[in-house]
Amino acid sequence: MFDWIGRLRRRGHFATLDGADFPPLERGTVWLVGAGPGGPGLVSLLAYHGLGQADVIVHDALVSPELIAMAPRRAQRLFAGKRGGKPSPKQADISLQLIELARAGKRVLRLKGGDPFMFGRGGEEAGALARAGIPFRIVPGITAGIGGLAYAGIPVTHRDTNHAVIFLTGHDESGAVPQGVNWQAVARAAPVIVMYMAVKHLASIAQKLLAAGRDGGERVTIVSHAATPLQSVIETRLDQLHTLCEVPTPAIVVLGPIGDYRQSLDWYLDGARRHVLG
Ligand code: SAH
Repeated sequence: MFDWIGRLRRRGHFATLDGADFPPLERGTVWLVGAGPGGPGLVSLLAYHGLGQADVIVHDALVSPELIAMAPRRAQRLFAGKRGGKPSPKQADISLQLIELARAGKRVLRLKGGDPFMFGRGGEEAGALARAGIPFRIVPGITAGIGGLAYAGIPVTHRDTNHAVIFLTGHDESGAVPQGVNWQAVARAAPVIVMYMAVKHLASIAQKLLAAGRDGGERVTIVSHAATPLQSVIETRLDQLHTLCEVPTPAIVVLGPIGDYRQSLDWYLDGARRHVLG
């Protein structure tokens, strides 16, 4: 890996390069690191710094292989992904694995898609580490519901359209639409709702939002494989959402007028990959 810290230090740019800003990944500790939504360009310098020091990388399915390949060759790579419908390690097992690796004296880098604290169960993993007395650090990442949308030319807020935005998960632990969501409140609270993990339940989510008073003509934009060369976009309306059958995943589903900005701000890839429906 490119020794950019050494280079900056030699240039005398930052006094704190080895201190608070770029601390070492110590033995027996775990960093929960956000890998961003796409390729390795969308991670933080701190994530990159950690990657170069790790003994073990424990990564999710959505983390780009190119990023994992940037870790030192000696680093062990462990897959702890969850894929809808397929057998996957239980959350408790992943947390336990992190604890055991740290207790074995490893420098552990837990690499999670997007931001570790955005619908990524990073809070649960950090909680398990805290209870076990394992020192940990959170390295935030670019979340798909903001950075991924930016790659489709969609600003998550815009002064002309929305002063608020809601981030919603489309399913809970059991895979069902979350029970705890107050759909009336969600529907009224903001013009824009950004939904993660919603593809399996598009019809029932649309029905709940319509029943709660959202307009059937509202724009829905679905960005699949955001910020990757496979990115594609589907545009439709809320009252047509139930008719979609093949939406590539992972995908972010956006309800609201910010989808309209794509017309002028769609800058990534060529428009050929865009599927326009509705
Ligand atoms: N922590 C992640 C989200 C994990 S939940 C983050 O901050 O982005 C997994 C969901 O994230 C997927 O079901 C999908 O809704 C969304 N997602 C993650 N990467 C994506 C991508 N490249 N394109 C579109 N959606 C993505």
